[in-house]
Amino acid sequence: MRELIHKLYQTQTLEREELIFLISERDEETERYARDLARKVREEVYGNRIFIRGLIEFTNYCKNDCYYCGIRRSNKNAARYRLTKEDILHCCRQGYDLGFRTFVLQGGEDGYFTKERLANLIYEIKETYPDCALTLSVGEKSEAEYRAFHEAGADRYLLRHETADKDHYRILHPEPLSLENRKHCLETLKKIGFQTGAGFMVGSPGQTPETLAEDFLFLKNLDPEMVGIGPFISHGDTPFRDKADGTLEDTLFYLALLRLMLPNVLLPATTALGTIHPSGRELGILSGANVVMPNLSPLSVRKKYMLYDGKISTGDEAAEGIKNLKKRMETIGCQIVTDRGDYYKK
Ligand code: SAH
Repeated sequence: MRELIHKLYQTQTLEREELIFLISERDEETERYARDLARKVREEVYGNRIFIRGLIEFTNYCKNDCYYCGIRRSNKNAARYRLTKEDILHCCRQGYDLGFRTFVLQGGEDGYFTKERLANLIYEIKETYPDCALTLSVGEKSEAEYRAFHEAGADRYLLRHETADKDHYRILHPEPLSLENRKHCLETLKKIGFQTGAGFMVGSPGQTPETLAEDFLFLKNLDPEMVGIGPFISHGDTPFRDKADGTLEDTLFYLALLRLMLPNVLLPATTALGTIHPSGRELGILSGANVVMPNLSPLSVRKKYMLYDGKISTGDEAAEGIKNLKKRMETIGCQIVTDRGDYYKK
């Protein structure tokens, strides 16, 4: 098994069957080996630099009904909110003063934010903070919308593919959502010139070593600048309320595989990873991740952006905890840097 990890390190890919074998059969020693190697690769490419992104969860209205997600349309218990332009600019101001040079606007697919409204917002943020990168994470849109956002100044786009297996995609999403359209959106984003991010949840219902192998091969082929993975965590007001959460060990192992496969990728240790384990994000960094995304949303709405139960929303997760986060990163030999942290081009 060590040999497979080494092969992945050297060739940056594996055959489907090798991936399936590794995912289903690996032992603790293999996991440790992969994680240590992945950390070494991260250090070779990015040194001890960890990038921070200020996450602004600007709306939890959503027209979609993804079975796993706490802000799905059918969840009548979700208290809906949307931030005003002034609120959002205020979040950016606070973030900027704390040293953030990337803002991530994330939200449900909220019809209020039309092409014009969102483009206008993007334009204003970029005009106020021309030295910052702006990342969007607002789901599936038309090519015209993506183009308008890019022209308004958005630099990056996060759109997890969620799973690269068609049948698994259907287990996670009702119609009219489809894997085909999700992939089409990712291709469009790349074509337009966005730095693009894909990814998946670890341990989502229906996930198997086979579907995971598809995910890795899909990501290898897409070659995105960013990859976001984190454990699935069940939410009590969704059809997946009784499903088991993804595990720390699986997430760390897959982070390591991703670093070995895509050495230059920007790879966050996600909030979900920090939620399932108090040191989740540090362990993620030690397994090859190199990005953390503290929350810049106003405290008043943070508890409402509940994609899953138990989401960390105070303390270190809060931007006010940035000093703490710096300290936590220093204890593992890393340094938070406050530039845009662009993708390291090969
Ligand atoms: N509407 C946007 C943003 C979605 S939220 C979009 O469609 O891209 C960002 C990510 O959170 C999702 O892509 C999903 O992978 C993750 N997520 C949603 N529900 C989750 C849950 N219950 N547990 C863990 N991650 C979840």
